Amino acid sequence: MPVKDPGSQELVVKVLASGICHSDLHAMNGVIPYASIPITPGHEGAGIVEAVGANIQDLKVGDHVILRFVMSCGACAPCVQGTDNLCRKLKFLGFEVDGTFAEYVSVPSRHAIHLPDSIPFEQGAIIGCAVVTPIHAMNIARVRPGSSVAIFGLGGVGIHAVQTGKIFGAAEIFAVDISDSKLSLAKLFGANYAINGSKEDTVAEIKRLTDGVGVDFAFEFIGLPTTQLQAISSVKRGGTVTLVGIPNQSLNIDLKYLLTNEIQLRTSFDHTRAEVDDVIRLVESGRLDLSKSISHRFPLSKVNEGIDVLRKNIGDPIRVVVTP
Ligand SMILES: [Zn+2]
Ligand SMILES: [Zn+2]
Repeated sequence: MPVKDPGSQELVVKVLASGICHSDLHAMNGVIPYASIPITPGHEGAGIVEAVGANIQDLKVGDHVILRFVMSCGACAPCVQGTDNLCRKLKFLGFEVDGTFAEYVSVPSRHAIHLPDSIPFEQGAIIGCAVVTPIHAMNIARVRPGSSVAIFGLGGVGIHAVQTGKIFGAAEIFAVDISDSKLSLAKLFGANYAINGSKEDTVAEIKRLTDGVGVDFAFEFIGLPTTQLQAISSVKRGGTVTLVGIPNQSLNIDLKYLLTNEIQLRTSFDHTRAEVDDVIRLVESGRLDLSKSISHRFPLSKVNEGIDVLRKNIGDPIRVVVTP
């Protein structure tokens, strides 16, 4: 791909790290409606500013940046109201605009967020998707200090939800997955209980551990009807279920059960710009430790091997990162 000179409002960024995400697999499998072809994928990137357009004031050559894949316009009502993930002119880097599985990316400067030099590029890369997504989900759910939280699915996003739950003040975190090694990792990240859904009756176990009541909040990070329904069944009366994993099938819900138990069902999509700034501060201050978050690294020339690691779940990947 040729490297373009930046337009007056654009930056050229040399990509130094780019995370591989389940969303990339979903796009390859044709289940993301807005993904266009041909495209350079990659939406979790960080790098160094290589060139700036004539009108760029806030960033300069040599600055470290996170490339934000939620390319909001900044001017429509949802953007002005701080819900720019719902921008009316939204475009997605790596799905509709050429992304970060590349040596260089040129983007309008408003989609680059300054990354403090103290945060490694590979951590910066995953902040922009895997780490900020659970922050948004817990903001949507309004997790309260002292509450109990169940996390269904410990992939790259779900595993960070365990740490996020701690930051939101959850008193008890229940981690659910079918991989024992991911469950051990979740305990290392602060989960109080680890439940293997392939060996145990997940809902019964959560109910048993909560004196038959259920948890205050449940989050589903997979997108499968089985775990979505388990999440709904595992919350207490008046509890909140937030669906985050992108579903590719419809769900049959017993609305009477939801209504008569006043269960709040919410959905969470991506994140807002302000939440990326929040995550940067959390990592910079040491409140959020991402040093164990990257399990595999591949050079850009072997990006397909990295994608296979995620697709085939080779070696229980947390986050796979592509480097130059
Ligand atoms: Zn992603
Ligand atoms: Zn907008």
